[in-house]
Amino acid sequence: MTESVTEPRIAVLSEVVRNQIAAGEVIERPASVVRELLDNAVDAGATRITIDLEEGGMRLVRITDDGIGMGMADLGLAFEAHATSKLRRPEDLDHIASLGFRGEALASMASVARAKIRSRPRGQEIGAEITEEGGQRGRITPSGMPEGTIVEVRDLFFNTPARRRFLKREQTELARCMDVIQRAALAHPADESGAGGIGFAVNHGGRRAFDVEPGMDLAARIRRVFGAELAEELERVEAEKGSTRVYGYVAPPRFARRDARRQMWFLNGRPLKDKVLTRVIKDAYRGVLVHGLQPVGFLHLWLDPESVDVNVHPAKSEVRLRDERSLFGFLVNAIREAVMRTNMATPGESMLDSVRRREERSLQSETLPDPGPMGSGGRVSEAWIPRGPGGAGAPMRSPGIGSTPAPWGSATQPAASGAYEVRDVAGGPGESSSASGMAGASAEPSDWHAVDDLRGPYLQVDRTYLIRALPDGFEIIDQHALHERLTFEELRREVGDGKVEIQQLLTPELVDLTQAEVALVSEHAEALRRIGVHVEPFGEKTVAVHGIPVRIRRPDPEGIVRDIVDVIARTGKAPDAEDVLEEVLHRASCRSSIMAGDALDQSSIRALLERARAAGTDQTCPHARPTRVKFSLHDLEKAFHRK
Ligand code: ADP
Ligand code: MG
Repeated sequence: MTESVTEPRIAVLSEVVRNQIAAGEVIERPASVVRELLDNAVDAGATRITIDLEEGGMRLVRITDDGIGMGMADLGLAFEAHATSKLRRPEDLDHIASLGFRGEALASMASVARAKIRSRPRGQEIGAEITEEGGQRGRITPSGMPEGTIVEVRDLFFNTPARRRFLKREQTELARCMDVIQRAALAHPADESGAGGIGFAVNHGGRRAFDVEPGMDLAARIRRVFGAELAEELERVEAEKGSTRVYGYVAPPRFARRDARRQMWFLNGRPLKDKVLTRVIKDAYRGVLVHGLQPVGFLHLWLDPESVDVNVHPAKSEVRLRDERSLFGFLVNAIREAVMRTNMATPGESMLDSVRRREERSLQSETLPDPGPMGSGGRVSEAWIPRGPGGAGAPMRSPGIGSTPAPWGSATQPAASGAYEVRDVAGGPGESSSASGMAGASAEPSDWHAVDDLRGPYLQVDRTYLIRALPDGFEIIDQHALHERLTFEELRREVGDGKVEIQQLLTPELVDLTQAEVALVSEHAEALRRIGVHVEPFGEKTVAVHGIPVRIRRPDPEGIVRDIVDVIARTGKAPDAEDVLEEVLHRASCRSSIMAGDALDQSSIRALLERARAAGTDQTCPHARPTRVKFSLHDLEKAFHRK
């Protein structure tokens, strides 16, 4: 194995190998093939795109579009690396409007699969086709076909077994393909006039798995992908500033989930994941979200292409935004405004529904494997089976009663035909066309507040729950959760206004900590003062608490200080940094609140309810557990089989 020193050891890689290496970055799995081909079809101006998949895309991905097509000359170059029609000069990189621009995708695919392109330019009599398999290019031959382009990628990684081994089960690969396709469908909705949308149809193993019509707007597409239950509750986001525009929909906090699969951003029509934009959503839901859950929202952001650098990663789900700061504030405000408009009430009906669903799910997983529309396991189908009438999945919410609007706006009838129907999901029945006077609370509760005079009597159950009649049903209030929310809101307002009243303790309370913790406390003493906690070091391992916020009625200085130390030690931030403050205040309000177990008389219950009305955001506790559950007359009628 000794090599001659005279022979060069460095060799320029062949083009095939170069392309295979590039493919390693761009083409990881069938879903990446789907994404690249969809991008190309979109860039070609297609209005209808059909995707045929076999074996989760591992055997075949075929994408048919009705776009501008390619002539013979272009066809000859399509498989060439760095051959693109979308970029000419270096300056073009600064304002890229197309999805592709590297000219790598087709070359990469053809180096690791059996690829074929057939194309007929618009207005021409005949098309042509060319194949390339594992880098071996065939000749261009004429092909009879409709206008547009058909790209087939078969047997992905047939010549690179190591990569093939990284592919997962058919169902997993299919689910990833569906995810890409559904994101693309949500990325290209029709506008208000029904124009400009792209239609998508997917077949797997010859069976229709998903489709949207070109004329469907964003709301209709969300409904098609995620079902009526979600679509009914969405609130519209819409705002503009200069050349920046954001529009889309957000769901009430109770739809939040562990994964971020239902949180989507589209930048200039391109789906993307971006840390900054993820933070925007998190900020917009601040204070109304269960810790660790991801809110549901679908947002289109339009920016001047010059202010975006898409040239970051070939997989293209990341970008670099210029002027991030001002954009951030603008977006958080626009989205938060809509989040606050969402229906945060916990309707008894949906609560019962979710219990029922839980039961059904556990039953289902024990007995029948859900065949789904492709005759395969339920796990994949859960992500994308339309949940409309006739679809699999969750039970439908029943339509509301007659013409009486349900108090939280669920009275609209689901479309008889399901997902094709296009309707304005933002326009709840109780909503007037003027947007005035809606700040803070959702429109629906104020509907019943208008006639609800908070009249008793109130019933206290188990010294924990308060029950009272409403004009159109009744509600159950968790007294502790509600009081916690109010204390939190009031404390936060005081901190924000810079006037937290401090209650000085007659004798300072001493709290033993570690040396490091004492150091932390003294480092942040100033900031602590601003949030109403007056604390000073008292020896090496002790601090003295001199005062705490007046708001906190059941003073537990030691508990409060320990909480704070805990939070700042964990986050490494000052206690008045916004997110830390949130948690500190929440813990403080939790300590001060009426605990479950306090007997309350009629007048203190009424006082609590009046404070809640004044606060506005009172439907969930700071960690987004519901503070109240409402049962409408409709729920009662259903429960007693009167309907
Ligand atoms: P890129 O999209 O980055 O330009 P690709 O390798 O994906 O690179 O495609 C190379 C070129 O082939 C494109 O620039 C385009 O001109 C042409 N092309 C690819 N797919 C299509 C299509 N579906 N319709 C029309 N032209 C296409
Ligand atoms: Mg491309």
